[in-house]
Amino acid sequence: MRLSQMLFVTLREDPAEAEIPSHKLLLRAGYIRRVGSGIYAYLPLMWRVLQKVSQIVREEMDAAGAQECLLPQMQPAELWQESGRWDTYTQAEGIMFALQDRQDRELGLGPTHEEVITAVAKDMIRSYRQLPLNLYQIQTKFRDEIRPRFGLMRGREFIMKDAYSFSADEADLKIIYGKMHDAYCNILQRCGLAYRAVDADSGAIGGSGSQEFMVLAEAGEDQVLYTEDGHYAANVEKASSLPEESQPSVFKTLEKRATPGADTIAKLCEHLPCSPTQVVKTVLYEAVYDNGTTVPVLISIRGDQDINEVKLQNELVKLGTIVDGKTVVALVVPDSHAQAKWAGQPLPLGYMAPDLADDYIQKAKGVYGQFLRLVDQTAVELKNFVTGANEVGHHRVGVNWDIDIAQSKHIVDIRTAQVGDRAVHDPQQRLQTARGIEIGHIFQLGTKYSQALGATYTNEAGKEQPLVMGCYGVGVSRLAQAAVEQSYDQNGMIWPASIAPYQAIVIIPNVKDSTQVEAAENLYHELNKAGIETLLDDRTERAGVKFKDADLIGIPYRVVTGRALKDGKVELVERATHESQEIALEAVLPILKAQLSPPASS
Ligand code: ATP
Ligand code: MG
Repeated sequence: MRLSQMLFVTLREDPAEAEIPSHKLLLRAGYIRRVGSGIYAYLPLMWRVLQKVSQIVREEMDAAGAQECLLPQMQPAELWQESGRWDTYTQAEGIMFALQDRQDRELGLGPTHEEVITAVAKDMIRSYRQLPLNLYQIQTKFRDEIRPRFGLMRGREFIMKDAYSFSADEADLKIIYGKMHDAYCNILQRCGLAYRAVDADSGAIGGSGSQEFMVLAEAGEDQVLYTEDGHYAANVEKASSLPEESQPSVFKTLEKRATPGADTIAKLCEHLPCSPTQVVKTVLYEAVYDNGTTVPVLISIRGDQDINEVKLQNELVKLGTIVDGKTVVALVVPDSHAQAKWAGQPLPLGYMAPDLADDYIQKAKGVYGQFLRLVDQTAVELKNFVTGANEVGHHRVGVNWDIDIAQSKHIVDIRTAQVGDRAVHDPQQRLQTARGIEIGHIFQLGTKYSQALGATYTNEAGKEQPLVMGCYGVGVSRLAQAAVEQSYDQNGMIWPASIAPYQAIVIIPNVKDSTQVEAAENLYHELNKAGIETLLDDRTERAGVKFKDADLIGIPYRVVTGRALKDGKVELVERATHESQEIALEAVLPILKAQLSPPASS
């Protein structure tokens, strides 16, 4: 491609709309343009990158035995009603764009495809002889994200590869899951990215085990906790660890103390004094279930620990049977306005204890009449602890579970693991932290969707069984941007050669010099003919501008037909290192070929 003929517009200044380096650079280098909130045009250079990433993904999926297909983006509401996700996805979470056709039928634009693929499987899979099966597609997804940002990282329209597997049983699912795990490692390695596979929360998708693939970068929205020995890595949403030991309590007998103004753990510990590890703090949440029931939740946890809301949400879903709820559609720390809806009198905030009386809750329609009392493991272990007196300005010391607190409680693990904590598998190991960009997520789904939609097969014994499913996503457009986030310098992007839009750029410093033009044209044809995708900068711009642009767009190799031509030589510059060498014209092709041939796989 000749730059003179390309839609090629670069910007000198960082665009105001971009916050992180990769987003700034993609805009500045003319790879993408914003069309609306979270909606982007992929311009020619970007489209080439996306196709390269897609091709690597495709090759690895095919090698893992998956088959490519293409599913509809317009999905009838009935399918989502059958799986029970329509209301959550269109209203509660609101992530799905929904529309009505001219016959008033409701449709959703696919944010994901479990329902569609399960309906197809229900229709077409009859027997164990057809199993296992793994189908994938590479396609645009739509999600009405609350906070679209960082360009392609969190778009409302983006490209995903999603695969869905169907097996006869859990053991067979594990085999496919393992193959997909390995395929994901290959994809990331071939795309030239530094990454980590981590244990993950399975969230609203459901199922048992899941792992995320994190591209390591400071701008990542996710926090990863891991141990140096390589045996543990998890998203902080999922991570568990051993907290620091608590200090033995300095209080021996139950007493009520005046603690005016001590409505935070820090103030309380200074006032008494005591260690935060001797305190049971109680936090109020409010959960709203899918059937509309509001449940006031009292959570007790050791004073130095924090609540992990993802774990909390999962526990509340498990406890949903208490109020006949299947999922939690809202989970908040209620402000005074929200509290007023059910609290008959002001709550002693900052002084609450696990035994706060249920009669704070007024009888009201749609409100569960008792506190749901959850106690984190860290608080259960304490003896003679400090906690609120359920009265403003007062605490109790020397409190013990069972003796002083009569209410029944659910014991749970809802603490947030922290950097520096001891690891569960080996307490000698301490958790370390890194930021990551989630580019892939693989799930062992089990039978959640096959059961909901009635997708069954007949096993060898002639018995009808639900299909055992897995699902596997890669954010293709997010991955492409993550590659930039991981690799750039002050001059621009530095693409890994395997996914660069072009591998080489031939620059003519002075287009008025016919020797330069001729040598460049010859090289341009020779390289392209040999399969090295090459750009030709034949614009009438100054040489300095051309060099700057070549650096900005991050093409791995730059060839300059400049002054050394009189000796039959050109300059070859490697983008990543800026290393430059003068080489003979005839040496360009063999050298680039050698540099760009993929390393022999191990
Ligand atoms: P996140 O937690 O970042 O919102 P997710 O858990 O919703 O991601 P999945 O539903 O597992 O993501 O989707 C599979 C992959 O699609 C993700 O790993 C990510 O790479 C990509 N992805 C998800 N949402 C977006 C988005 N809004 N824009 C771009 N890529 C996305
Ligand atoms: Mg999401």
